[in-house]
Amino acid sequence: MEIDYAQVGLKVGLEIHQQLNTRHKLFCNCKPELFKEEPKITFIRRLRPTQSELGQIDPAAYFEFQKGTKILYEADESTSCLVEMDEEPPHNLNMEAVEIALTVALMLNAKPVDEIHVMRKTVIDGSNTTGFQRTCIVALNGELNIKGKKIPIQHIAIEEDAARIMGREGSTVRYRIDRLGIPLIEVTTGPVIYSPKEAEEVAYTIGRILRATGKVKRGLGTIRQDLNISIKQGALVEVKGVQELELLPVVIENEVKRQLGLLKIRDELKARGLKEEHIKEEFVDVTEIFKETRCKVVRKAIEQGKKVLAIRLPKFAGLLRLELAPGMRLGKEMADRAKFWGRVGGIFHTDELPAYGISQQEVEKLRLAVKAEDNDAVVFVADTEENAADALKAVVERAKEAVRGVPEETRAANPDGSTRYMRPRPGAARMYPETDVPPIQISRDYIEKLRLRLPELPEQKLERLMKEYGLNRKLANQVLDSEYSELFEEIVKESGVAPTLVAATLTETMKALKRDGIEVWKVTDEKLFEIFRFVGAGRLAKEAIPEVITWLSKNEDKSVEDAVRSLGLYMLSDEEIERIVKETIEKNMEIVKQRGKGAFGPLMGMIMQKYRGRVNAEKVSRLLKELLEGFV
Ligand SMILES: [Zn+2]
Repeated sequence: MEIDYAQVGLKVGLEIHQQLNTRHKLFCNCKPELFKEEPKITFIRRLRPTQSELGQIDPAAYFEFQKGTKILYEADESTSCLVEMDEEPPHNLNMEAVEIALTVALMLNAKPVDEIHVMRKTVIDGSNTTGFQRTCIVALNGELNIKGKKIPIQHIAIEEDAARIMGREGSTVRYRIDRLGIPLIEVTTGPVIYSPKEAEEVAYTIGRILRATGKVKRGLGTIRQDLNISIKQGALVEVKGVQELELLPVVIENEVKRQLGLLKIRDELKARGLKEEHIKEEFVDVTEIFKETRCKVVRKAIEQGKKVLAIRLPKFAGLLRLELAPGMRLGKEMADRAKFWGRVGGIFHTDELPAYGISQQEVEKLRLAVKAEDNDAVVFVADTEENAADALKAVVERAKEAVRGVPEETRAANPDGSTRYMRPRPGAARMYPETDVPPIQISRDYIEKLRLRLPELPEQKLERLMKEYGLNRKLANQVLDSEYSELFEEIVKESGVAPTLVAATLTETMKALKRDGIEVWKVTDEKLFEIFRFVGAGRLAKEAIPEVITWLSKNEDKSVEDAVRSLGLYMLSDEEIERIVKETIEKNMEIVKQRGKGAFGPLMGMIMQKYRGRVNAEKVSRLLKELLEGFV
């Protein structure tokens, strides 16, 4: 079903975060890089809820505090120092990052501020050792022109990136602080984007401008987009962490479908006569019913002395399993909430039972135990009594929200474009000044100097790519939108390989490989360079490039030479080609005698089928034609 986005009143605002490729981090001299090895340094902190200026305590932060959540930070010496560990005050703001941000600001026609003030923004999940993120606005009120429509850019800011989450074991969350302090530029648009397609165009245009500086990091996780999405009658939902530009329209479409679906559920509940107050926090201990169950999860829990608690959701039958958007259901949303607030592994609900080893008989006993009627749903959880009760409380809360419609919340993007519950939306006004870093004056002079040496605008680069390299508009556009646009020019200049081949490989081939699940980002620039050096020197056939990239992505510490050897892709010498062509003719004399010159097609086919990627097709063709002449 096509959605009429104008009719549903879709409004989207984008927040693009891009890591900058500076020499140092934002507030210290550490390398802005990630480490792969085992951490040399670890330390533990407890999460403490911090009050905002208005005295509000974030409910999610308070919850973590109550649960005694501990954070285990992992570090090494080359990517972090006492600043990241919050043992030393931050150094002065990195001016290289400021300059990149100002350059972007000018390209977006924004007005630089007179003085940059570093602020603290409360974060509650432990991803910052300090409990806040440092951020500063660099410019305001820019705009983009997309197909004649003005998209306001509310602000351009620089921020320190957060530590990256590595895992969660019990009440301990592991974060690695190598990423903490890497400079990020944040570009925020007004909420005036009205369709998924338009969001994609805006994101690509901003991406081009960021890359035009030549100072942004590339690869998985270096760009992250947050979205504010709302529809009429729905709610403002924040989706965090979309890592791929091409995923943006999918995420938006799914969110609109999800909200429309939730509105349908709201209407259905109303039609069934349900009121919020009918949903009661009455938990029933049903452990006895499942004593002999064949459901492994539940039985194991009971054996460990845990309880099975159940709750009746009046008039919800059939609505928990209703698919809102691909992979998204109300039942799943309740499960996400239960996992978050109850620390349970998941929930069971009657919309999906009998299943998972739970029998029809058990379901009937369960319904009886909670006095469920036909159009009621029953949800149950097997865990410690405390966790199970917390989980079911969260389910009740979510059920009540379903009566009201769409809840405001923060969701996280999954790699397939669906989203999951992350936390409640934090309240506003979470900023206060960072007193350890002095403000920085931005003089008119400095701005005018920057303005005089702005990088080539994307439109200009597009024309130049077409003119200088003979690319058609489509391919030139793809190069411009790819992470490899700079690498493209360097490779062409050095390897002497045809620009269209380099361009198509770095855009279409890489995209296709990625779609097939190949982790292309594991192949370094230097190796891509080397591949084209091989092609340029006639040591590797262009047809074999995808195979080599695939192999290298799986063998990160190996060279292109290794790939070529291991895959048996070394190019055959002219003598070998001659031998193969002669052999093929001899083996197929029947065809040659019958068809004369007409034997060229089938014989060429045979040779290429066997040696594609290892021979130069033109050479084979020339030689085969020559030799066939001799038989006519
Ligand atoms: Zn440091």
